[in-house]
Amino acid sequence: MKPLKELTRPNIWQLKPYSSARDEYKGATASVFLDANENPYNTPHNRYPDPMQRDLKKELSKIKKVAPDRIFLGNGSDEAIDLVYRAFCEPRTDNVVAIDPTYGMYQVCAEVNDVEYRKVLLDEEFQFSADKLLAASDAHTKLVFLCSPNNPTGNDLLRREIEKLLGGFDGLVVLDEAYNDFSEAPSFLEDLDKYPNLIVLQTFSKAWGCAAIRLGMAFASLEIISILNKIKYPYNVNLLTQKQAMETLYRYYEVEHWVKTLKEERENLEKEFAKLPCTVHIFPSNANFFLARMTDAVNIYSYLVSEGIIVRNRHSVSLCGNCLRITVGTRMENEKLIEALRRFRIGEHL
Ligand SMILES: *Cc1c(COP(=O)(O)O)cnc(C)c1O
Repeated sequence: MKPLKELTRPNIWQLKPYSSARDEYKGATASVFLDANENPYNTPHNRYPDPMQRDLKKELSKIKKVAPDRIFLGNGSDEAIDLVYRAFCEPRTDNVVAIDPTYGMYQVCAEVNDVEYRKVLLDEEFQFSADKLLAASDAHTKLVFLCSPNNPTGNDLLRREIEKLLGGFDGLVVLDEAYNDFSEAPSFLEDLDKYPNLIVLQTFSKAWGCAAIRLGMAFASLEIISILNKIKYPYNVNLLTQKQAMETLYRYYEVEHWVKTLKEERENLEKEFAKLPCTVHIFPSNANFFLARMTDAVNIYSYLVSEGIIVRNRHSVSLCGNCLRITVGTRMENEKLIEALRRFRIGEHL
């Protein structure tokens, strides 16, 4: 890995962050707060939240076994994705490399930040080759994006290729583990010490059942996390989100139960899907969704919409021709989907 100073945009490296009232006062014992122009009434919503989310990071630290100062929290993992571009990629000069197909936000953020986005096609088993990604990179490649289990394909990426990339790439590797809770593959959080160029993303939006509160996590070296903290909005995670996340963390046993149930439901749903005349192939999944190749994805998608059932049409995505991405729902939702598809007759709904 190149020195972090070389990987960081010079303006960001030199930036002195905005210091909020809540940043400057670090004591714990004051009882009169007249420093932030807040309204003294309407407790507790009158006060700015903790800009560094200390209580929440302390709890998360226990669960994830990562020190609090190596955790970044943002308004969804989408914030972390945007911030890594803004921190490390000089617009119109630097570039990033990513697997294809994968989560669309990596490319959207590249375009917003005017950074070249280089896609490297996965193989027919939806696996990547570290050598191919490295071959697509050059001296201006700051980031490589990986996603495991990958969205929309659902499979885990091969650990040995991820390790090879981490060892061979001199920029930063962003590994998105949004669906890791559903996979048997161990998280790369355990390997943060081994790979100073690794940034792991996780989220409260999937297994934790908290998409509405918008809370994403990035885990990396202290140095990388400090840069992200320096450029984030001061109060990027609001009080309601911090409180709700704390409450959810105390009920982690419920999350474990959801994950177990969803994995069982996924198996049921895959089995039923396989029997449908309109199914061509089901791709193996380690997530709370699966990709299915259909006889005619576009037509089946609009038929399902007319039945009040929304799935994700991935027909126009690389390697996903005629594919639908199906999120696993409750038993009842899954049954409704299957029943509707049983009523579907190929060629009749055009
Ligand atoms: C759903 C998803 C996320 C979550 O994004 P949030 O902004 O945290 O809701 C991140 N990465 C991938 C690959 C996803 O599919």
